[in-house]
Amino acid sequence: MVIKKDIIIIGTGFSGMGMAMKLRDSGRQDFVVLEKAQDVGGTWRDNTYPGCECDIPSHMYSFSYELNTGWSKSFSGQPEIWAYMRKVADEQGLRPFINFGVEVKGASWDEDRRVWTVRTASGEDYEARVVVAGVGGLHIPNIPEIDGAETFAGPRFHSASWDHSVDLKGKKVVVIGTGASAIQFIPIIAQETEHLTVFQRTPPWVLPKKDKPTPEWRKKAFATIPGAQRAYRNALYWSLEVRAIAFNGHLDVLPFAEKIVTKYLAKAIPDPELRAKLTPDYRLGCKRVLQSNTYYPTFLRDDVDLSTDGVREIVSDGVIDGNGVKHEADVIIYGTGFHTIDAFDYLDIKGKSGVDLAAQFRETGVETYMGIMVNGFPNLAFMLGPNTALGHNSVVFMIEQQTKFIIRMLDEMDRRGAVAVEPTKEAQIEFNIEIQRLVEKGIWTQGGCTSWYLDSHGKNRTIWPKFTFQYWWETRKVNAPDFAWEHAA
Ligand code: NAP
Repeated sequence: MVIKKDIIIIGTGFSGMGMAMKLRDSGRQDFVVLEKAQDVGGTWRDNTYPGCECDIPSHMYSFSYELNTGWSKSFSGQPEIWAYMRKVADEQGLRPFINFGVEVKGASWDEDRRVWTVRTASGEDYEARVVVAGVGGLHIPNIPEIDGAETFAGPRFHSASWDHSVDLKGKKVVVIGTGASAIQFIPIIAQETEHLTVFQRTPPWVLPKKDKPTPEWRKKAFATIPGAQRAYRNALYWSLEVRAIAFNGHLDVLPFAEKIVTKYLAKAIPDPELRAKLTPDYRLGCKRVLQSNTYYPTFLRDDVDLSTDGVREIVSDGVIDGNGVKHEADVIIYGTGFHTIDAFDYLDIKGKSGVDLAAQFRETGVETYMGIMVNGFPNLAFMLGPNTALGHNSVVFMIEQQTKFIIRMLDEMDRRGAVAVEPTKEAQIEFNIEIQRLVEKGIWTQGGCTSWYLDSHGKNRTIWPKFTFQYWWETRKVNAPDFAWEHAA
């Protein structure tokens, strides 16, 4: 059976929900949101590991048009963020537009009929004039292939698919990875485990987290004084936005921040040998800067070890490090991040002349127009696509600009009577030349590290290298000559 709609949105994270709300508000009703799970929330539904919380303040990490006066603390936890998203879905009446339990397997463009056919796991096909992919960049767990992993006798799981049936109390646990997720759950599980070994490949930069409960008077003020919460959010926006200066090529301001962290680390870890292991040998900001008040102190516990000798092999009852030493384990937890730039390999998208999107990206690099549209793939839009992720501010801001841009694009199609639109090759090339010129000057390339921001050629395909208000400016209107507009014959 084929279900026909004008527009299909994939996913119900901040991207898909934001798109659905704004599409509906623009007067369009003929759309459906396809969601593989049984509820909304995207990454904030899926990541349920202990201690999961946001490292961007909640008053900024939320829809600007759905403010929440009641955030319980500066950096809310996953349950509160997910509850916020479910509440927004209910209050905005989004659920009738969502088909839950529908997993998208791929999409292909029909050049003659100028429609996308979207295939789903259940075998049901959808057809639409326009597809908006709000699938996010951090949803395919990266589980490294380690020799002997299948021989491990106990449970093994990834942070993004936490196995809550496994009781860690009194267990010997090995954690592999020390990224944004791991530094949140390590301090929590260390309170339960009999022994915890953390395998660190590269030490992260960890700043103290200025997290505080929201005082009741502030919640009241936000609820009663017109404009108070908006003013607070604006102040937050600018306080985060200035951080871009340090990362975007003005590397001379970094030593100040690096000094703060080094001092913090020295205070937290008096033992010089342990401190040396935890000290990054690359510049702050090269990888995502992390925040925690409890991560470093965890390594002061007698029952927690930090291994920096690499993972050689997994055996039935433990992990062998690079020196051949066995670290006993009843449970192994992978905090090893996600497939990011190569996530497109997991999408089966065929554009004009049947060109495969992942193959095109492998050949030319992951290049798009504004991180939203791709030459050769008409009427397809990505949200939080390549080079629109952030290290310094809230991605919800970027999502909102993309939502507005896509609505403007739809309006422009209607105005022109166009049946298909794609960015020209020239406009796409120009956009990427400028992006690459800027990211090459930035800390992500100059900082002396490798990270998931970079592709296999060392090119940053992930981060927006300018201020976010520049993204707002550049997407504020549809620049018609940048696009090829196709009209019905
Ligand atoms: P991540 O930051 O990519 O960290 C992965 C960790 O696993 C790194 O320490 C990495 O080491 C290590 N690793 C990967 N493969 C390995 C291997 N084969 N052997 C040993 N170690 C290996 O992943 P994540 O912690 O899941 O976070 C991903 C992103 O999610 C974050 O950057 C952030 O954007 C987002 N996130 C956000 C929040 C939030 O508060 N908003 C919270 C969690 C996650 P190397 O550094 O050496 O590669």
